[in-house]
Amino acid sequence: MTTSTLPKNLRYGDLHRHLEGAIRPATAEEFANTRQHPLAGHPDFATTVSTTEQLPTLMDYLAKIDVAASTATEVEDWERIAFEAVEDAALDGLTHLELRFSPFFIRDRTGLAPEAAIDAITDGIKRAQRQYTIPVGLIGVLLRNFGPAIAEEELGVILHRREQFIGIDLAGDEAGVAPDLFSSHFDSARDAGLRTTAHAGEAAGPRSVWNVLEHLQPDRVGHGVRSVEDEHLLDFLAIREIALEVALTSNVHTSAASSYSQHQLPTLLEAGVHVALSTDDPATSRTSLSREYDAAVTSVGLTEAQVRTIAEHSKLASFLDLS
Ligand SMILES: [Zn+2]
Repeated sequence: MTTSTLPKNLRYGDLHRHLEGAIRPATAEEFANTRQHPLAGHPDFATTVSTTEQLPTLMDYLAKIDVAASTATEVEDWERIAFEAVEDAALDGLTHLELRFSPFFIRDRTGLAPEAAIDAITDGIKRAQRQYTIPVGLIGVLLRNFGPAIAEEELGVILHRREQFIGIDLAGDEAGVAPDLFSSHFDSARDAGLRTTAHAGEAAGPRSVWNVLEHLQPDRVGHGVRSVEDEHLLDFLAIREIALEVALTSNVHTSAASSYSQHQLPTLLEAGVHVALSTDDPATSRTSLSREYDAAVTSVGLTEAQVRTIAEHSKLASFLDLS
């Protein structure tokens, strides 16, 4: 792919990037091969942690992230993963980066203490920022599939390290677990001064987006692409200027969109909805934000003016202080 179709001076950052989905496949493979990991020596390791093809469901896609995260069983692995994630973003020319991860997901996959993982990740980011000039903020992810009690415990860990985060997110099994179970968590996070976002409209339809808006009142919505199925919802999002964090390649890979050319993005823009083009899981989907912007023009068919508007709205919607 070429970036020649993009305006020369277009600058952008990523608001929706999972650290667990940003682990370089080569790094995960190195971890696996030097430890007692079940996939050590796998002849095609990269396909166990990433895809270039559409998968039947979101859960099939998340299974690859499970594998990548499960290789990083030492605390220092997460320092390196965070360093490399920031390095990848800086080398891709990003102006800023919001990275999200679930400390309890890391514990679940590796047995590491969540507090130690958070501190290692913070250290890795700081080390990268000594080398690359890029503002980075962390978002703590609560997972629907862990249920509200575990999520409350996880939020407690995040709030205990409040200064290391800029926001929280709700992710995981959208189709299987309702968001209203997490409304008190979002209230507590807001009380602590954290910004909020929540995944919806990716693995379920517009009702799911409405539920998140009603019960969690997030500042932004992760994906939200299936909002196009409800005109009233599109109007609501546009009027309230609630930005959707849209990730083209991830949406195709998880079957949230059938293809680039059939992606919901043009309909969202025509309705006046603010969109922050994002990568979601750049390693899992073997992409980068510059590739996503390029795909928005070459594969989705957006105009130069439209991608400029996306970059502007994305900057406005950032939880980082970019002034
Ligand atoms: Zn996501």
